[in-house]
Amino acid sequence: MPIPSATSQLEFLQNVQAVLEDGQFVATYKFALLVALADLAVESGIEDDAACRVALFDIAEKFVDYYWQQSAPYSGALRAEVLSQNSGAQASVVNLLISERQRIGTLAQLRSDHRRWSRLLSRVARTVREMPLHRLQVVAGQLRQFMYAHDDDPNGIVLLPGVAFHLRRFHPLVTGLARDRWMAQIRRIPANLYAIGQTQDLETFLFAADRLPIARHMPKLRACQGGYCLYCGGRLGDGDAQVDHFVPWSLHRFDGLPNLVAAHAHCNRDKRDLLAAEVHLERWMERNEALCRTSSTSTAEDVADAQLDAGPARRIAAWAYGRAFDIRTSVWLKGRQTEVLGGRFRSLLSA
Ligand SMILES: [Zn+2]
Repeated sequence: MPIPSATSQLEFLQNVQAVLEDGQFVATYKFALLVALADLAVESGIEDDAACRVALFDIAEKFVDYYWQQSAPYSGALRAEVLSQNSGAQASVVNLLISERQRIGTLAQLRSDHRRWSRLLSRVARTVREMPLHRLQVVAGQLRQFMYAHDDDPNGIVLLPGVAFHLRRFHPLVTGLARDRWMAQIRRIPANLYAIGQTQDLETFLFAADRLPIARHMPKLRACQGGYCLYCGGRLGDGDAQVDHFVPWSLHRFDGLPNLVAAHAHCNRDKRDLLAAEVHLERWMERNEALCRTSSTSTAEDVADAQLDAGPARRIAAWAYGRAFDIRTSVWLKGRQTEVLGGRFRSLLSA
């Protein structure tokens, strides 16, 4: 299939801008929905004009992901409290997560309690359907169906032809704008005035996710890499091993096990927020095959916790490498050495 024309790409961006500039909404859900659709478009792997079905449960899962962190008390200038995400009563998704937080420690634990997790997703999905899904495309009181049609499917939406492509291509732009507006909205809500004050780093609190929990995957990653660093191939000692996001967290937030690798602390540090060179990509693909083989023996909880399906990680990598190729960024080789990305990643990452 062909890719969308330059004109339709521009039109799409103008519509997104119009949606974000429309000041009619009282909750922050619309921003979360836009970020969710952009993230899911990356994960869809669509690279042409095709339409894309998005399940409501997948959107709900993204909502839980984003709002989990934001449902913790924010210790601002005057007193610590959960920030309001709505100019009236607190947003219901936040209330749901506040009560889950009182019961359980981490999102990973919540996810592995299968019954509770799906009940939570159903409730969040209902809110998404009733609220932002209906309002996202309303600009100045007029409905513009430029992303998806408003139909009666209770379980999902279909992104119109070209929309997944646009959201993938302009992911950093769209999510960056949405997060800026999201933060501005939170600052405007009067109930947050005392909590925010003027001093704290609100952006870090809202959007920089906690990287700590990934360290729990170290034993499994080490085992399936034979005890070696994915990048330099050297043996990993006890004190110098770290878990690294293969596709950098700054590009796309994906904590699933296939996107995590065991590496030396110094290799991890040298790589910074860059993509790894194609030699590393090749080893990563092989490593993920080994990971899938060993995980057939894992428990159901392990699988839910680690998001073991290698498909999303591969599609996210295909997006990240395709983008790096298009905008000609360099990729990390070793130490301080980088190189220009060749075209081999396409065949490595094709399914
Ligand atoms: Zn290393």
